[in-house]
Amino acid sequence: MTSFDLRSFVLLAALQCVVMGTVLLGLRNNAPVPIPGLRFWGIAPLLALVSTLVYGLQGELSTVTVGNGFLMGATLALLAGTRLFLGRPWRWRPWLVLMALCLSSLLAFAVIWPDYRARMLIFGLSMAVICAAHVRTIALYSRGLPSRLMLAAMGWQTLVLLARALSTYWIDSPATGRFDGGSLLQAVYIGTYSCSILVVLVGAQLMVNERLREKFEYLATHDDLTGVLNRRAIMRRIDQEHQHWLNEGRGYALMLLDLDFFKRINDTFGHHVGDQTLIRITMALTQGLRRTDSLGRYGGEEFIALLPDTDMCAALTLAERLRKMVEEMPLVGGEPACTVSIGLTVVQGGENTPEAVLLRADRALYKAKDAGRNQVAIAQ
Ligand code: GH3
Ligand code: MG
Ligand code: MG
Repeated sequence: MTSFDLRSFVLLAALQCVVMGTVLLGLRNNAPVPIPGLRFWGIAPLLALVSTLVYGLQGELSTVTVGNGFLMGATLALLAGTRLFLGRPWRWRPWLVLMALCLSSLLAFAVIWPDYRARMLIFGLSMAVICAAHVRTIALYSRGLPSRLMLAAMGWQTLVLLARALSTYWIDSPATGRFDGGSLLQAVYIGTYSCSILVVLVGAQLMVNERLREKFEYLATHDDLTGVLNRRAIMRRIDQEHQHWLNEGRGYALMLLDLDFFKRINDTFGHHVGDQTLIRITMALTQGLRRTDSLGRYGGEEFIALLPDTDMCAALTLAERLRKMVEEMPLVGGEPACTVSIGLTVVQGGENTPEAVLLRADRALYKAKDAGRNQVAIAQ
């Protein structure tokens, strides 16, 4: 162990962590959508680096306490980052109280009643509590390989912290110099800390990449205003459903929905109220549809609903329910009333592409409009 230069290893790991932290902070500034938690993940390695530099001074006990403070701050910042990233509430106060209690006890056991073993126990246990809280958060609220990586690093660190604190207390070891590599456990502890923060940051980076991919995918497939599928995405679903029809004979129904006299709403109340009406109606339609159905914005104030594995009778009942829901939607604060016309059809034998089905639904919609609007029409 003596040939192993722990000090250089720790400094190198701390610098690597800072590089990772800088990448995360850079991502925070450039990400097209806000990603919570990135700031704290980025700050944590900087605090860890400061603690490493302070420990490196190797002198005054008060200096060591400052180093411990920065190390604890880094561990807390990692926890804050993970909780915020996973959409969990985060409150600094209880953790800062723990930190203040821990650091003042360390000072007391350094200056008033000098006791190395008590300091080890207090600091080790406090750090283990923070790491265990991190493990718990990841285990409960996150899935996937990157978070498993984080979980393993934090879990291992918790165990090493506990082992070090308890062994120093009960096995009467002498107060070794922090970087002298006097004991194997000391080396394992310092090595673990340096590596685990790096692994946590790599896990964080992978989780951010995955989050960005999901966000981009959402933006590419959903309508900005209403949040339902956009035209490209709903057409792809219809294509897929048509393949099921061709391969397995599983039928489907299509509904084209067009809001009635929507231009009047814009002209009378303004475009903004028109937008809010579109949002309200799509929310009602989404609630009215079944979980297996898909709703997409076909264009303007026209929507398309795909009803897999549905015959004409069931589709007609559902369409009538949707029409009624829109008609009877409760209005608050002078919101304009609006109705919807629906054209309905089901796929038929011999149709090799969904275009013919769509064309029929469109014809049905025209029939509903011609017949006076606010009604359901079918084309077979
Ligand atoms: P009809 O009953 O025949 O369907 O009458 P309509 O007025 O609904 O039909 P038309 O196609 O003439 O008008 C559709 C209007 O929908 C015109 C357009 O300004 C409005 N519109 C389309 N997209 C949006 C949008 O995103 N926001 C708002 N506020 N209005 C939109
Ligand atoms: Mg319309
Ligand atoms: Mg229209």
